[in-house]
Amino acid sequence: MTDVGGGTPAAAGGPDVDVLVIGGGAAGLVTALQLAKLGHSVHVVEARERPGGFVSEHELAGIRLDSGAESFATRKGTVAALAAEVGLGDDVVAPNRAGAWVRWNGGTAPLPAAGILGIPGVPLADDVRRVIGWGGSLRAYLDRLMPLLRVRPEHDLGDIVRRRMGRRVLDRLVTPVVAGVHSADPSDVDVRTVAPGLTQAMTTQGSLSGAVMALREQAPAGSQVQGIVGGMHRLISALEEQLAFYGGTLETGTRVVSLQRSGEAGLDDRPDARPLWSVELARATAPSTPSATPPPTSAAPASPVPRRVTARALVVAAGFRPALTLLADAGVAALPAATAWPEPASVAIATLVVDDARLDAHPRGTGVLVAPGTTGVTAKALTHATAKWAWLAAQLPPHRHVLRLSYGRGGETLVEPELATVVADASTLLGVPLSVADVVDSDLVRWDDSLAFATVGHKARVAQLSEAVAAVPGLDVVGAWVSGTGLAATVEQAKTTASGIAAELRGHARLPR
Ligand SMILES: Cc1cc2nc3c(=O)[nH]c(=O)nc-3n(C[C@H](O)[C@H](O)[C@H](O)COP(=O)(O)OP(=O)(O)OC[C@H]3O[C@@H](n4cnc5c(N)ncnc54)[C@H](O)[C@@H]3O)c2cc1C
Repeated sequence: MTDVGGGTPAAAGGPDVDVLVIGGGAAGLVTALQLAKLGHSVHVVEARERPGGFVSEHELAGIRLDSGAESFATRKGTVAALAAEVGLGDDVVAPNRAGAWVRWNGGTAPLPAAGILGIPGVPLADDVRRVIGWGGSLRAYLDRLMPLLRVRPEHDLGDIVRRRMGRRVLDRLVTPVVAGVHSADPSDVDVRTVAPGLTQAMTTQGSLSGAVMALREQAPAGSQVQGIVGGMHRLISALEEQLAFYGGTLETGTRVVSLQRSGEAGLDDRPDARPLWSVELARATAPSTPSATPPPTSAAPASPVPRRVTARALVVAAGFRPALTLLADAGVAALPAATAWPEPASVAIATLVVDDARLDAHPRGTGVLVAPGTTGVTAKALTHATAKWAWLAAQLPPHRHVLRLSYGRGGETLVEPELATVVADASTLLGVPLSVADVVDSDLVRWDDSLAFATVGHKARVAQLSEAVAAVPGLDVVGAWVSGTGLAATVEQAKTTASGIAAELRGHARLPR
């Protein structure tokens, strides 16, 4: 690898690696591992001191906990299969079946069992009436009687729910769930992204609730989410280990600052040889997020930076904003304008470790989602982690509980809460008065540049971006902002992309992206 100032292109002796991956979050690590397994030399550059991105960990009261993602969608079994691939198959677990509750102005009740994103499959069921009352349930039932009018293609989830089932369902059920999962209002969210297949099922079933039931019947039995004993961050450590095992390398605390295509020369003189990329690396300054950055795990000696690395292929896995800058730098033409993208949300996760025997009864199941506009509470959701995950409760002394409260809704400026506010919110949401004196340990981790990637129009922007990137040989982009939020979508896209890159590196044609 060459010094940045040296100016000698490594092309003289061939590239340093086959593939350079920029960003060591889940997307980057999965892409890198698949390529390394196929025998390619891969180097991952990660700006933070630790890989994982939004899958991260912190230590509270002597126990390592997830500080970002804490579960994954079971859709297609993608993440469970990855966990098995990296040796964690026996540690994949389902959460407590009790489920979460919802809080609105005037009440708190369990979320109805038969639903998707809060949309009830059985509008007149007891658990639906408990949240939206008889009036709300009867209005929602009208969905079964109203004809489907296909006047225009429907993408706005909020609009679909309101027209088919009424405001109560939208405000008390769907909005809290969508805000909790996607940090966005249902009216800004593209139904095709957050509930794939729902509108097609509406056409065949003749109603929204019928579509919900049809999709639920198609889904495999059991929980829609799973976790990993010990926390999702173990997946990152396992990916890191496997990557090293297959000869891939990971460099943390280092940022890619610029990219350059250094001509059409390739590893060999085949006419279809790949162009070389020359990438400039610099020591990363302390990141602003997450606020609780753990110490580096790698004992490997740090590589010298600044310097340049050359590669046959580049994978941009850097997360939304940095990725857009890097792609523009890579000379990708016809990218959607920077102003065309929505502002991603900032969220903060406040974690409390508390000693209180009253929480042993799990008063609100696995947690509470809060309807926007609910007075007396500023959190948008609470996860009762020790109620949700039996493995976590088993690791703690009796009556000790872990509570995760999330703050920050899409479109609103995040106000980081004080500890007293977090404790007051936990008390309100759990219906158990807690005091700051009950708190054994706590912290607040802020995540910027996250989550608001399900909005209407996003799919079209991503399609334009993918086409523009596909026109540049040896360049790919992976990550939640392109694949859709969540580990299931991120992992699936990373694996598919890695297969395409591997085919191209072997000189084979690639399926259209
Ligand atoms: C608080 C929170 C909770 C979540 N909970 C869940 C959950 O329970 N289940 C679920 O499925 N999903 C969850 N998600 C979403 C999920 O975590 C993400 O969709 C997924 O982890 C995104 O992975 P990624 O690799 O695309 O991006 P990221 O995780 O953002 O990784 C990008 C990486 O690139 C690095 N980088 C950026 N710029 C550069 C540069 N110039 N040079 C080098 N490196 C760079 C960054 O430091 C980062 O590590 C959650 C997200 C958040 C924020």
